Amino acid sequence: MFIANNNFTLLPESYLFSEVGRRIRDFKQVNPERDIIRMDIGDVSLPLPEVVVRAMTEAINEMGKSETFHGYGPEHGYSFLRDKIAATDYALRGLTHISADDIFISDGAKSDLGNLGNLFGRNLKIAIPDPGYPVYSDANIMDGNGGEEHNGLFSNIIKINSDTQNNFLPIVPEGAVDVIYLCFPNNPTGVGITRSQLTQWVEYALQHKSLIIYDSAYEAYVRNPATVRSIYEIDGAEKVAIEIRSFSKTAGFTGVRCGYTVVPESLDFNFSDGSKANLNKMWNRRQCTKFNGVGYIVQKGAEALYTAEGQQAIKSNTDYYMNNARMLREALIKKGMIVYGGEDSPYVWFRTEKGSDSWDMFDALLHQTGISSTPGIGFGKQGAGFLRLTGFNTTEMTRKAISRLNESLIDL
Ligand SMILES: *Cc1c(COP(=O)(O)O)cnc(C)c1O
Repeated sequence: MFIANNNFTLLPESYLFSEVGRRIRDFKQVNPERDIIRMDIGDVSLPLPEVVVRAMTEAINEMGKSETFHGYGPEHGYSFLRDKIAATDYALRGLTHISADDIFISDGAKSDLGNLGNLFGRNLKIAIPDPGYPVYSDANIMDGNGGEEHNGLFSNIIKINSDTQNNFLPIVPEGAVDVIYLCFPNNPTGVGITRSQLTQWVEYALQHKSLIIYDSAYEAYVRNPATVRSIYEIDGAEKVAIEIRSFSKTAGFTGVRCGYTVVPESLDFNFSDGSKANLNKMWNRRQCTKFNGVGYIVQKGAEALYTAEGQQAIKSNTDYYMNNARMLREALIKKGMIVYGGEDSPYVWFRTEKGSDSWDMFDALLHQTGISSTPGIGFGKQGAGFLRLTGFNTTEMTRKAISRLNESLIDL
C-alpha cells in the first residue's frame, strides 16, 4: 500500500500569492474603471539581452546538424561556462581560490535550494531567517528535517529573526546550529550585508562546524563597495559555505532557467561515524544520480553573458530595475515611511511610522492608489506590518505609481 509523505501535511499553507491575486481580482470587480499597477511582481520585465538571443539561436542551429549536435552534457555543466564563471565572477574580483571544479551549473537557484537537503544528515538544527524566502523552510519540512511540529513551530528549525532593531541583519545565534541559510542582498527586505557583518557568521560556522547556504541571487545588484557580493570574500568561507547564484534576476533568465551553485572542494565535514565527508564529491554524486544537466542551448545563452556585451547587458538591466527601486524608495521616504532596501537590490521594504497590519496596508494602498504590493507577513512573523514593492515593473509604470503615491493622502 502506498503511503504519501506525511511531511506535506505539516507545510504552512502557501496562501500569500493566491490571496494577493484574490484581493486584486475582487478590487477589479468592484472598480472596473481603475487600472492596477503591479508592484508585487517578483518576475523581471525586460527581455533577454540580444547577445544571449544570438548565442542561443546559433546553438539551436548547431543542434540541428549531425556534425555539431550535442546529446547529454556533463552533469556538472559544460566547462566553457564553468571556466568563464570562475574567471569572471570570482578570479577577476580577487577570489582566485574558487575554481571551475567548485562550480555546478543548475537550472536555477530554487531547484538547488530545494535539493541541497540531500547532503544533510538527520536531526540537524537548521537556522532559517525570518523574514525570508519561503523555500528554505518549506523544502526542509518536506524533507522531514523539521523535527517535531507544535503550533506551526518545528523543533529543528530555529528562526533567526531580523527586524528594525538590527536593520534587518540577523544576529548570530547563541546556541549551536548545524545549517544556516543566509540571503544577501535580501529578498524581501532588500538589505545588503557588509564584510564585517558577514565575517561574524563565517567565524560562527567555522567554530561550530556549521554549513552556510548563501543565497546570492541578487549579487549583480550590489553597487555599494562595502556590500558583500560573494561569501568567499570572507576568509575561511570556502571551508563552510555553499553559494547559490542565478541568471534569473540579472539577465532575464526566469523563463530560460539557468544558475550555478558553488560547492568548494575544500568543504570537508563528517559523516555520523566521524569519517570524512567531502560535500563537493557528494554533490557531484547527487547530480550524476538525479540530474542530467542543463540544456546546451541554455548554457550557450548563459556563456554569452560573459562577453563584454553580455556583462554590459547585466549592468544595464540591473541599473534599470535599481533606478525604479531607488525612485520608489525616495517617494516612500518623502511620504514619511520607514524604508529599507532599494540601494543594493530591486526590493523596497517599508512600513508606516505607526505600524499597521500588513494586509490592512495592502488593502489601503490598493484601494487608494491602485498599486499592488506584497504583504511582509507572507515572508514570516517578523515581516508583519511591512509591505514589499519591487523595481521589476517598467520605469513608465513605476513613475505612474509614484505620482499616484504623491497625489494620494495615503495614511496606511
Ligand atoms: C528569485 C529567487 C530565487 C530563485 O531564482 P531561480 O534561479 O529563478 O530559481 C532564489 N532565491 C531568491 C532569494 C530569489 O528571490
